[in-house]
Amino acid sequence: MREKLVVGNWKMHGNLAQNKALLDAIVPAMAGFKNVGCAVCAPFPYLSQLQSLLQSTNISWGAQNLSEHSKGAFTGEVSAEMLVDFSCTYVIVGHSERRSLYAESDQTVAAKYVAVQQAGMTPILCVGELLEERESGVTEQVVARQLDAVIELAGVASFAKAVVAYEPVWAIGTGKTASPEQAQAVHAFIRSKIAGLDADIAKKLVIQYGGSVKASNAVELFSMSDIDGGLIGGASLIAEEFVAVCKAA
Ligand code: 13P
Repeated sequence: MREKLVVGNWKMHGNLAQNKALLDAIVPAMAGFKNVGCAVCAPFPYLSQLQSLLQSTNISWGAQNLSEHSKGAFTGEVSAEMLVDFSCTYVIVGHSERRSLYAESDQTVAAKYVAVQQAGMTPILCVGELLEERESGVTEQVVARQLDAVIELAGVASFAKAVVAYEPVWAIGTGKTASPEQAQAVHAFIRSKIAGLDADIAKKLVIQYGGSVKASNAVELFSMSDIDGGLIGGASLIAEEFVAVCKAA
């Protein structure tokens, strides 16, 4: 059986007081809950706060981005080793907001994925198509291209210590969720693509769905056979919603 994993992507939200209030509500509600892995990914300045508030809980934490470089003259960037200093378990790479707003190419995303793994953390590799790509029927080609860049650089064996998040861009922050069947079809495609190279790794690969997941649609989505949890944006900022989504997985 694969692990189920729900990760909150706080994006650029929060402050010290709000984060504390949110975690003070989530931590006791999740205490003792073992069926699902649960984590939150915060902006860099709050990783130290997550480390101190979450270190003796069953909730892991991570970052939303990093530099593909290990050190040097890269003003404003944050390296993988710096994230290790704050005991991050996960780092999101290739989120569609990074790809579109910060022009991250498939190759840059692959280099970031490698940097996360080399530092001993687990990348959450986001893939997904734009609305116009879905409408023109190229969803699988887009997702395959995004995966291929990583497979070329890191090899299929790297997926033994990675999470993939399928996030259709048209479903992110729009309130428009992919139907469970639409999501399942792409998840099955991702798993079969990896299985074509290594069946065992594919069977164990955690593939999350992301895009307007909330308490009211999580059970249906997470009941699909290839959907192993979710990457949650807006609903991860509301304690009761996030806890309900975690418990739905
Ligand atoms: P929403 O849940 O707000 O749609 O965001 C999804 C997402 O981008 C998670 O990474």
